Amino acid sequence: MNRFLYFGLVLIFAGCTRPQADDQGKFRVVTTTGMIADAVKEIGREYVSVKALMGPGVDPHLYKATQGDLFSLMDADLVLYNGIHLEGKMGEVLEKLARRKPVLSLGKAIPPEKLLHLSGEGEAAYDPHIWFDVSLWQRVAEAIGQKLAAMLPDKQMEIHANTTAYVARLRELESHIHGRVAEVPQEHRILLTAHDAFGYFGRAYGFRVMGLQGISTVGEYGLGDIRRVVHTITQNRIKAVFVESSVSPRAIEAVVEGAKQRGHLVRIGGHLFSDAMGQPGTSKGTYMGMMRHNVYTIVQALK
Ligand SMILES: [Zn+2]
Repeated sequence: MNRFLYFGLVLIFAGCTRPQADDQGKFRVVTTTGMIADAVKEIGREYVSVKALMGPGVDPHLYKATQGDLFSLMDADLVLYNGIHLEGKMGEVLEKLARRKPVLSLGKAIPPEKLLHLSGEGEAAYDPHIWFDVSLWQRVAEAIGQKLAAMLPDKQMEIHANTTAYVARLRELESHIHGRVAEVPQEHRILLTAHDAFGYFGRAYGFRVMGLQGISTVGEYGLGDIRRVVHTITQNRIKAVFVESSVSPRAIEAVVEGAKQRGHLVRIGGHLFSDAMGQPGTSKGTYMGMMRHNVYTIVQALK
């Protein structure tokens, strides 16, 4: 953590003045990603106020807490984050905060045997992009429901009912996805994106997944990575590759160009929302909308 943030935390923890939250005395939940905030809104409804620190287009692997974030975190009644090292640069802040208030890593709601192990990364290294398997996200929703019900005992019944309703909608979403991906012939089910965000999607819905950059966007991709991917594209006559809303499109554009030089035309099949949702107030600014958009885009481009 840099020195500025460290002293910021010390000052805030010491209890100096901070802005008053304008949320009419509601139970205050602060989340890292928008996907988590969306689930909290569905489950906590009118009993909670929710703030996501990472907005549209923000890359959680690289995101650093701002001073405003530290105020929001200190004001929160409950802090929810993805964990499994998704929030690479915020881990230390969240750990320090956990000594002072309820801070929950939702990755812990998933049994380790359901997580994707990263080969060559040591025994306990797992893929953090759990929202891309809707059945895993149901467990996350249930964990959020349990936590909110425990912390808001007066509203327990309502929160349980909201959780049940949300999980039912997630099940519908799951069968919608299975139905749509069935339109893509088996041999075209290769999903090629800028970074390895779609491993769980691939496992759940039957796609072979390749990313240029690996699980985190922290590492750089090199010419070797581009060559490897171009080779796969030309070998498998892949029709489309995808850019991500939270990662620069440069790498994917280089892949398209590389394939062209080898005489294979591959097009950019569209934008996928990977580690952040779309603009608030639009359908893509919700978890369900983001998933439907991705599935629609993938199916239209590859079928
Ligand atoms: Zn990612």
